[in-house]
Amino acid sequence: MMADTRGKTYDAIIIGAGSVGLPTAYFLTLEGWRVLVVDGESSPGQGQNKAAIGGVRATHSDPAKIMLCLQSIEIFAGWKEKHGDDLGWVPGGYCYPVYRGEDEELLKGILPIQKSYGLDIDWVGPERIAELIPGINELDLRGGTYSPGDGQVSPLKAAAEFWKQSREGGCEYRFGEPVTGLLVEGGRIRGVRTPKDVYHAEVVVNAAGSAAREIGKMAGIDIPVVPDSHEAGISAPMERFFDPLIVDMRPGPKRKTKNFYFGQNDRGQVIFCYSPIEPIIGTNRSCTSEFMPIIARRLIDLIPRLKNMLIRRVWRGLYPMTPDGIIILDRVREVDGLYLEVGMCGQGFMLGPGVGFNMARFIACGEPAIDPEIFSTLGFYRDFDEQRAEVLE
Ligand SMILES: Cc1cc2nc3c(=O)[nH]c(=O)nc-3n(C[C@H](O)[C@H](O)[C@H](O)COP(=O)(O)OP(=O)(O)OC[C@H]3O[C@@H](n4cnc5c(N)ncnc54)[C@H](O)[C@@H]3O)c2cc1C
Repeated sequence: MMADTRGKTYDAIIIGAGSVGLPTAYFLTLEGWRVLVVDGESSPGQGQNKAAIGGVRATHSDPAKIMLCLQSIEIFAGWKEKHGDDLGWVPGGYCYPVYRGEDEELLKGILPIQKSYGLDIDWVGPERIAELIPGINELDLRGGTYSPGDGQVSPLKAAAEFWKQSREGGCEYRFGEPVTGLLVEGGRIRGVRTPKDVYHAEVVVNAAGSAAREIGKMAGIDIPVVPDSHEAGISAPMERFFDPLIVDMRPGPKRKTKNFYFGQNDRGQVIFCYSPIEPIIGTNRSCTSEFMPIIARRLIDLIPRLKNMLIRRVWRGLYPMTPDGIIILDRVREVDGLYLEVGMCGQGFMLGPGVGFNMARFIACGEPAIDPEIFSTLGFYRDFDEQRAEVLE
C-alpha cells in the first residue's frame, strides 16, 4: 500500500459519493487506505442513489449479481447490530406473482441456477401469494416466486451511514467539486482535477454513475454507459398490509411499460416504479404527465384496494445502463491505477455494499471476495453484444 499522507495525496480517490462509491470508500478505509471521495453534488447520495426505491434482492439469474447482492443483504441486514444505526431495513422478501404461462416457465427455469448460488427462493402456489399480498387480484393467478431473504433499505439513510462510518475511519470528502480532469502520466493515473484544486493518488476509482462515460473520456477510454430515465413515486404512509417487494412482470396496457415493481417501506409508504418498453435515453429528469395514470392503473388492477392510496410525490432518475444490462467492475488496462465500478443499471443500490466490499478487496489485495472467475464476467473488456443469462431486470 502507498503510505504517502501529505496534505492532498491519498492512497485512493473515488469519483462519486453514490450507491457504489460510498460503500467502496467505507471498505477501502477498513483496509487501512487513506481515501478521498470527490463529488459535484453538495452531500452524499444526491445522484441516482436517492432516486432508487430501495429494493434489495439477490433474486437475479446472473451468478455474479446473485453473489454480490447476497453480500449486500448481509451487510445491510447486519448494519444496525454492528453500528447501532437503522437503515430502514425491512426484511420482507421479494415476490413475483405470476399470471402468464411464459412467466411461470421463465421463473421456474432459473430457480436451479438461483438455488445453486445460495439464494433462498421457491415457487409458491396462488394461496401463498394471496397470503403474502392481501387483496391481490386472484383471477388467473398461477402462483409465483418468493425469496424471503430479500428486503428494502432507505437509500438516503444508507448513504448517510456509509458516509458517517467511512469518515470515522478517516475517509475525507470534497463535495461541490465535480472532477473536470484526470491526471495521467506515462500510462499511469496520478490524481484528479476539480475547479477548486488538484488531488493526487496512484489509484482512482470511477464511480460516477450516469456520468461514468464523461469521466472515462478524460482518460481517453470509451465506457459504454448511457443514462436511461425511469420515473417513480411514493404514497402517504398507510397501515402496513404487505411485506415483500412485488414485481409484476407482465407488460402494461398500450405496450408502454414492461414490468412494474413496488413495496411498502418502513414508514408504511408505498413506493413504486415501472420500466418503459422503449428506453428513454438522456439526462432529462422532469416528471412526465403519463407516469401516474399508467402506474395507478397497473397498481389498482393488481391490488384493487390501492385505489384509495394518496400519492405524495413523483420523481424521475437515471439508470446508468450498459448495452447488456450487466454492471462493469474492472481495472483499466490502458491507464494503470484507474478502476471502474460503473453501469449499475437499475440495481446499483442493492449491489452497492457487495460491489464496495469486492472492489476494495480487488484494489487493495488484487483479488475480489467472490470467486474471481465469476467476478471477471463483469469485466470491461467483455463482448457487450453477447447474450447474457440475466433475465430479471
Ligand atoms: C426510479 C428509480 C428507481 C430505482 N430503484 C432501485 C431499487 O429499488 N434498487 C436498486 O438497487 N436500484 C434502483 N435504482 C437504480 C439505482 O438508483 C442506480 O443503479 C444507482 O444509484 C447507481 O449507483 P452509482 O453509484 O453508480 O451512481 P450514483 O448513485 O448516481 O452516484 C454517482 C455519483 O457520482 C457523482 N458524479 C457524477 N459526475 C461527477 C464528476 N464529474 N465529479 C464528481 N462526482 C461526479 C454524482 O454526483 C453522484 O453522486 C433505481 C433508479 C431509478 C431512477
